[in-house]
Amino acid sequence: MKIQWFSWLITGALIFPGLNAQQASDSLFIRRIFDEALVNGHAYKKLEELCKGYGSRLSGSDQAERAVFWAGNMLRSYGFDTVMLQPCMVPRWQRGGTELLKVSSPLLNKRLRQFNDTAGWACEALEERYRKQASWYTLPACALGGSVGSNGIISGRMCVVNSQTELQTLGKAGKLKGCLVLFNEPFDETKISTFSAYGGCVYQRVNGASMAARYGALAVLVRSMSNSCDLHPHTGVMHYVDSLPKIPAMAVATSVANTLAAVANDRDLVLTMHLDCQTLPDRQSHNAIAEQRGAIFPQRYIAFGGHFDSWDQGEGAHDDGAGCMHAFEALRLLKALGYTPRHTLRCVFWMNEENGARGAAAYADHAAVAGEFHVAAIESDRGGFTPRGFSIDAEDARIDSIKTWAPLLAPYGIHLFEKGGAGVDVAPLKHGPSSINRGMLQMGLIPDSQRYFDYHHAETDVFESVNRRELHLGAATLAAMIYLLDQSLDRD
Ligand SMILES: [Zn+2]
Repeated sequence: MKIQWFSWLITGALIFPGLNAQQASDSLFIRRIFDEALVNGHAYKKLEELCKGYGSRLSGSDQAERAVFWAGNMLRSYGFDTVMLQPCMVPRWQRGGTELLKVSSPLLNKRLRQFNDTAGWACEALEERYRKQASWYTLPACALGGSVGSNGIISGRMCVVNSQTELQTLGKAGKLKGCLVLFNEPFDETKISTFSAYGGCVYQRVNGASMAARYGALAVLVRSMSNSCDLHPHTGVMHYVDSLPKIPAMAVATSVANTLAAVANDRDLVLTMHLDCQTLPDRQSHNAIAEQRGAIFPQRYIAFGGHFDSWDQGEGAHDDGAGCMHAFEALRLLKALGYTPRHTLRCVFWMNEENGARGAAAYADHAAVAGEFHVAAIESDRGGFTPRGFSIDAEDARIDSIKTWAPLLAPYGIHLFEKGGAGVDVAPLKHGPSSINRGMLQMGLIPDSQRYFDYHHAETDVFESVNRRELHLGAATLAAMIYLLDQSLDRD
């Protein structure tokens, strides 16, 4: 043992100046993780099987159910120690067959006639599509998840609001009564993290319907949560305040929002909306779980995963097929390298993050009842882009100790170690009834965020939007962090 330790020390000192023997050993193993991921990675291939074989996976849909059984079989095929499907009840919202938003506007017609002289327009995509004149234009729009149907056709004038203050001012003046209200606050382009920009705007999508219903609006349109200016509407969850009328809500493409805002002064503009979406009774679904048993602490868990459900636009590739494949691949990488974990490593595909997080609740409830002690949980739900680091939900001393691993991960471009929330699916473990997990460490994988909202909840979130190397780098980063946690936790 002493000779081995001594040889590591010598190797470390020679190859990794500045690293101690343990760090040198860790560094070599992390290099092997990245090599295996980049040369033999399985995540990209499995993401293709999921996206192209099953498509979107809206909670409670037949597609989601078929896909989760595929996940169970796929995980079993790798020979992990345990694979199971954990039941959970999920809500079931359906888009329905009719989904129409139309506009009639003499001013819009005039602008389209002047299309060749549109200097100054921020975005011309919509005008290009509609250069041909018509009295009514069908606009790229889709119902927000959870919206009620329109119960026939709703028709009315449009009111544009660009901020919460404007909503209140117009609302209190009675100007939103009988309107279809367009929420048009764009992302703050000065934010470097697009998640910060999203956080500043998403109130419009989540709460806009009830905010406008308070002032007598008939329906709401919400500018898509995206940095891009294009013709793709982005759906996402919305909620109603029970004490207010429930009015229908649609997302409109950012280009549509720009164009409608530009003709907001047209007194003759009329919008019509027709939606037959509905909410059906809850249905049983499942989380998919795979484990490699710990050799020293089999009753202590390091959990990591993404959410398996998606919205019904696109294929849920970045959101969050990528996160699930990160987790699966991390478990596979460690197994393929012959690593014997000290703690039980558990990969989880949580169901229903998008519109209820019922899978996460069921997982946390089960952990509480079964007394499953989690030392750490890592969530990946920010897409399959180039990994940059981790958010860490822990006390400062713990964060400082994780930051000491920065030199081990720096060669792979991993440099962010930020105090912050980990994610919707791991949070209930800490805050739910499971008091044994209250002190656990939670982390979130942070990939580069610049392109995420081009695809988020839109028809563009398909397999082709994911880059193989970026996805595999993310999986290797997650595996490296799991390895470092497994090696260091419970040492004291
Ligand atoms: Zn997600």
